[in-house]
Amino acid sequence: MSPWPRKKSPWLHWNEPLLRRNIGIYLHIPFCLHRCSYCDFLTYGDKRPAGLTPPAYVEALLEEIARRGEWWRRHYLPQGRLVDSVFFGGGTPTYLPAEDTARLVRAVYGAFSVGGGLDRPISVQNVSSTAAGGSRPAPTLEFTTEANPDTLTPDYIAALAEAGVNRISIGIQATQTKHLRRMQRTHRWEDIRPRLRWVAEGPIPRFSFDLIYGLPYMRVGEVRETLARLLDFNPRHISAYELIYEPGTPLYAWSRRFSGQRLDEQSCLQQHRAIELTLRGRGLYRYEISNYALPGEESRHNLRYWRGGDYIGLGIGAASRVGIEVINNPRAFELYRKDLAGIGGEGDALERTVGAGLDPPMMSRRAGHDPPLQAPAADIFMQMRTRLGTRLNGHRIDPRWITDGLLRVESGQIVVTSKGLAFADMFHKAWV
Ligand code: SF4
Repeated sequence: MSPWPRKKSPWLHWNEPLLRRNIGIYLHIPFCLHRCSYCDFLTYGDKRPAGLTPPAYVEALLEEIARRGEWWRRHYLPQGRLVDSVFFGGGTPTYLPAEDTARLVRAVYGAFSVGGGLDRPISVQNVSSTAAGGSRPAPTLEFTTEANPDTLTPDYIAALAEAGVNRISIGIQATQTKHLRRMQRTHRWEDIRPRLRWVAEGPIPRFSFDLIYGLPYMRVGEVRETLARLLDFNPRHISAYELIYEPGTPLYAWSRRFSGQRLDEQSCLQQHRAIELTLRGRGLYRYEISNYALPGEESRHNLRYWRGGDYIGLGIGAASRVGIEVINNPRAFELYRKDLAGIGGEGDALERTVGAGLDPPMMSRRAGHDPPLQAPAADIFMQMRTRLGTRLNGHRIDPRWITDGLLRVESGQIVVTSKGLAFADMFHKAWV
């Protein structure tokens, strides 16, 4: 059962205050088996900058976890703000040997006192109500790692679960070899099918699959085929992203050479509709532009990003958000490593931001005890990506948006319909 109490709209009424009150931790692992042709993330395949080896990176990250954990205890714990979501992303976190990933997981548990500690199973009862700052039931921890299916073995999965990971998000993208080849993914469907079975029947209780649609020459029947294959495993969460041709990637260069080969808008829309209808038929509702879940199975960590909550990013290039400030770690490994000793000192951008702006009364307001602050412009866009939408806050509503079924207004909140999710950009332009 989800530790977050459910009402008619499971996350509309309950998750929002917790997303704002507590904080998330993100760890960036910048290694992959191979760089995919569409990817522009900060990650490396075979060719890495000098010095950026997995062992050196893990050591640096362990140091950052320890130092930032101390800093967090000083600034956040006295306010009763817990860490209730951790996300290992990248890159491919499961590129690291199982024992390194487990060391990192354990280090996070040790440094941030999350979910009641390592020695006890994760449950509501294990987080004291005093630490949670009130009588409300304390949330448990959502601990997610992204994974490449090629890296998953029963032992690896068991090691992750043993260390404390309770959610795994697996990059499948497609199941037809021709599409996987175009994306330069390392796997083939026949090879990973048993691996997905190990996950589905293994000790990690929650798992999600990532898909990409709108690929060149992709047909809607292939999208349906991929969904059918994946739904066989009864996932409770699926992310489906439309392909973006990111400048600088091999796929972008290809599309410039063969510009007529991009899938047309109508076909992309058809694929998108097929995904939404199929998943809805299985009870997975669309709670964000690209994300579908059974009620109560939404990704807490990602909701925190979209709803404007605070998070701390660890690792090269990782972003942290405090209040309305977003601060990035250096992208270059050497610079990142040099900055570690200064965490919590005068030169630390996070220290300066917290010291300047987040006094306890402001934290309390932001934690949901008073009406939340007016959302900054970037937040409005992010919030409109989700079904909850944003606060009315004087935003002008075109009556046609209501009659066309894009929005509803409920208790001072603009609620986005499933149809309206596609128009996040339009709302943003009208209000910012
Ligand atoms: S596995 Fe993911 S992070 Fe790595 S290159 Fe491919 S898309 Fe990018």
